[in-house]
Amino acid sequence: MLPSFIRIQDLADILIMTFLLYQLYSWFRETRAMQVLLGLGVVTLIYFATRYFDLYMTSWILQELSTVLIILIIVVFQAEIRQALYRFSLLRNFFDPREKELHSHFQEIAETLFIFAEKRTGAILVFKRNESLTDLMLNGVRLDCEISPQILEAIFNDGAPLHDGAALVWDGRIELASCHLPLSTNPDIPQYLGTRHRAALGLTERTDAIVVVVSEERGEVSLAEEGKLLKLEDPSELVAALEQRINPGSEKSRLTLSQKLFSNLLPKTALLLIVIAFWALITTRQGQITTVTVPVRLLGISDELALVKSSPEEVDVQLKSLSILTPTPAKLDISANVDLSGVHEGQTLVRIKSADFSLPSGMVVSSVTPSSIKVVMERKVRKSVPVKVVLRGVLAAGLSGYDVVSDPSVVEVEGPSSQISRVESVATEVMDAGRLAKGKEYHKSLLPPSKMVTLLYDEPVVIRVISRRKKH
Ligand code: ATP
Ligand code: MG
Repeated sequence: MLPSFIRIQDLADILIMTFLLYQLYSWFRETRAMQVLLGLGVVTLIYFATRYFDLYMTSWILQELSTVLIILIIVVFQAEIRQALYRFSLLRNFFDPREKELHSHFQEIAETLFIFAEKRTGAILVFKRNESLTDLMLNGVRLDCEISPQILEAIFNDGAPLHDGAALVWDGRIELASCHLPLSTNPDIPQYLGTRHRAALGLTERTDAIVVVVSEERGEVSLAEEGKLLKLEDPSELVAALEQRINPGSEKSRLTLSQKLFSNLLPKTALLLIVIAFWALITTRQGQITTVTVPVRLLGISDELALVKSSPEEVDVQLKSLSILTPTPAKLDISANVDLSGVHEGQTLVRIKSADFSLPSGMVVSSVTPSSIKVVMERKVRKSVPVKVVLRGVLAAGLSGYDVVSDPSVVEVEGPSSQISRVESVATEVMDAGRLAKGKEYHKSLLPPSKMVTLLYDEPVVIRVISRRKKH
């Protein structure tokens, strides 16, 4: 059983982060980016430590520097980042059908390479696997021909135009010849290995390609993989090595799940511990409770009903932050969004649920006071009522036989039935009677009879002075 303060989500949180970091680690392992990444990790740790212990100056400087640093890293490591992103596109593995190497060719190739070794003809053959090599194999000459002993001979024979540099093999074909590979900068490579071997190591450090090198000086055939060199004694050993690595169907190259899970335990545990430490640091504010007063918003009232009363209009909510990464509640615009769509006519108590608050992740509602609100709803009704023109003073002397009328003289109002029953007329804005003249039109707005009653006529009405006799 889990201790109460750790949720399943937290475990997932930690495991996913560890997995991602381990992926990052395995992509960048043994490249120069790894050291930088490690350094960066240490600086990040220091940054969090300084923040935790309130070392304002150092944490401020580190924070400011981080922006510059990120840009710098992107610029310097753009080739590595591109490669890493390429590896990250998992779908690629599903959609790249041209994965299989025709391994019947391996026998011929191996025999030819050992003949080269005997004759002291230098050669370097790159076997492409899943990852793209286009950015790393430069200045090559495109051949695109089936691989055969004769072709290999033609390429690598000393003095032949293409013998300098590496040839690229993919899917049983020689695609390119005379390519330049990136040299390894690993300082641990023995002095007696020259540029040919360093080129082989350099490419395999950066990609999943397999490179076979024939040494011209020592007459040896070696295979480079993941930045390591393996010396091969005879053609059958080379064939076996190639088949195991390049033919993806062979059983030996498939690792079982538990083998995958428990290989490289040291970096995995180290990363797991780092992630747990970070998680603990980030969640130190766990359990901190803040109370904020938030407004109640009423939503989803049905069209037939009108809200007459709701109380209270604000509630106190206790919020629990699970992490220092969540902002303080005071900075958030929180409200209780209460859904009234199921509420009927009359008085109802509506419970406020935790889901009525939209909160950032890592923050939960621990209690709400009061826990429910009272709403009174009434059926919405409509009624036609006369417009009452409100006059101040008396009409001018010559207008004694005249009436002041409005057009329209009747308007519709809508609202809760108890309110509507009380509405007898709708008043206009006050008009100065002494100023009215016949034959003129005056535009005046209507005043809503009460807050809950809606006027269904929202233009100003037209006021005229009309002779009483004419009207009849
Ligand atoms: P060998 O044991 O055959 O002498 P070596 O490791 O000592 O190999 P060098 O003697 O420096 O290497 O071999 C030079 C040859 O290596 C060049 O002629 C060229 O064909 C090949 N080579 C050198 N640099 C690269 C490179 N960056 N990419 C591809 N091939 C290279
Ligand atoms: Mg040499």
